[in-house]
Amino acid sequence: MADRNGYNPSIMGGMKCYLCGTIFNLVRHEVYFGPNRQKSKAEGCWCYLCATHHNLSNYSPHMNREVDLKLKRDCQKKWMEKNGKTEEDFRREFGKSYLYDTDETAEP
Ligand SMILES: [Zn+2]
Ligand SMILES: [Zn+2]
Repeated sequence: MADRNGYNPSIMGGMKCYLCGTIFNLVRHEVYFGPNRQKSKAEGCWCYLCATHHNLSNYSPHMNREVDLKLKRDCQKKWMEKNGKTEEDFRREFGKSYLYDTDETAEP
């Protein structure tokens, strides 16, 4: 069941920072933020991050493309596993696959 803010339970794990494990200063981070933010919440594609690892350091998804992609890849694998879906299903839902992508701006 989604809570009143539209979040279904996270498929990324419990109430601790996904990157360092601390339980302090946690914020919710939608893994596919931007246009897919609402879908992220509904699909459980969000995780807890401490403020430092959310956007206050260079090792955070909002500041570091590699960290962003790591979360997106981890979450995509979990989503496919949990729902018994394929990479193609994921692409249909979220617009693109992140599994083998290291740089979104690179030409195919
Ligand atoms: Zn952290
Ligand atoms: Zn965020």
